[in-house]
Amino acid sequence: MARVLNWQLGREMAYPYAAASPERQFAFVFNINRCIACQSCTMACKSTWTFSKGQEHMWWANVETKPYGGYPMFWDMKILGLLERANPEGARWTGAPGRDPRQPYGTFEGRTIFEAERMLTPDSARVLGYLPTDEEWNSPNIYEDNPVGQRGRPGEFHETGEALPEHKTWFFYLARICNHCTYPACLAACPRKAIYKRPEDGIVLIDQEECRGYRKCVEACPYKKSMYRGNTRVSEKCIACYPRVEGKDPENPGVPLETRCMAACIGQIRMQGLVKLERDGTWAEDRQHPLYYLVHVAKVALPLYPQFGTSPNGFYIPPRWVPRPYLRQMFGPGVDEAIARYEHPDRELLAVLQLFRRSNRMIFGYRIFEGPKVYEGTVRGRPVTIYNDTVVAYGKDGQELFRTTVEEPIHVRPAQHANSI
Ligand code: SF4
Ligand code: SF4
Repeated sequence: MARVLNWQLGREMAYPYAAASPERQFAFVFNINRCIACQSCTMACKSTWTFSKGQEHMWWANVETKPYGGYPMFWDMKILGLLERANPEGARWTGAPGRDPRQPYGTFEGRTIFEAERMLTPDSARVLGYLPTDEEWNSPNIYEDNPVGQRGRPGEFHETGEALPEHKTWFFYLARICNHCTYPACLAACPRKAIYKRPEDGIVLIDQEECRGYRKCVEACPYKKSMYRGNTRVSEKCIACYPRVEGKDPENPGVPLETRCMAACIGQIRMQGLVKLERDGTWAEDRQHPLYYLVHVAKVALPLYPQFGTSPNGFYIPPRWVPRPYLRQMFGPGVDEAIARYEHPDRELLAVLQLFRRSNRMIFGYRIFEGPKVYEGTVRGRPVTIYNDTVVAYGKDGQELFRTTVEEPIHVRPAQHANSI
């Protein structure tokens, strides 16, 4: 095993291959607070990539209702249970979340799925994981809208109603795709070396010619985003809509576009981009890149289950009504600060949040032009001031993509078209 730096864990860790950072890395931020589970993202992916015979059970993009839902069923509870057994002395985060980009969440002290030697069997020698049963792949939207109730049972409501900071009856929607991990478990486990990470954008792909369908990737991916196709007998996974990322989609030739699931998002929760990396896999400082800002400056977006150890490149703004212990387990120790900042956003954060889904073209930079003060008040006892700033998004070559304002523009329909679309 090689030693690689996992900045999300704040330490080096064991991984079967030496680190090799791509030039840029495919990454995304999902704002869970805004997801309405319309499943437009799910269907955009399905109708683009997995509509063929043999792919009926495949949902590369899915949205599940937490805490009970999951595709495949109970995927995170199962892998968390395995990790708990691999860490009999307990696993914990030490040190406070800080400014150092190599340790933004402190240090994780515990075994990852690559370090659980005592749990590995001869059949899965490299990565701790499990193979879901066929039944577990059957119901992608099971437990939709089922809340945690008074006694922690599904479907019950708490008698006192709900109020922030934590609802007593709660659920939330977790939108998921492959995280195109920095240290992919699928790649680490493949005995054929059929899985590779592209040096130009970090997208993780399965070579369909090389794959022999051993399903080691399905077993190893802790997020269960590699899937087996019965009629071709090879595995498949999210390809990050790479023709769009490469600028080859006829929708806008030559321009890097966000993926289909991002572009279709009705709730405007999604932003995807390509971030610059240092040689050791940490994010290079790119202060005016919106993803760099959200993850490393405002720190409102956090990785999904960083303790797994794959260094996922999907980041989430946590849902602010959910009990914190549940969120800390899911997103690590940065949760409390992230929610505090999101609830009381400063001027820059409020402006950057307006960039979500104003365009399908990938954003590589932004600039804010100050506008007038439009609101002054308090939110849950803390002062909030809102300015109607203008935020401008720039593309790959520095060209302006669009500009928008903090206050949503109001369009009044002309009287003769009042009832038409
Ligand atoms: S999420 Fe799973 S399938 Fe995707 S790169 Fe990471 S380990 Fe591989
Ligand atoms: S399209 Fe957006 S809002 Fe709708 S389910 Fe998907 S992530 Fe949520």
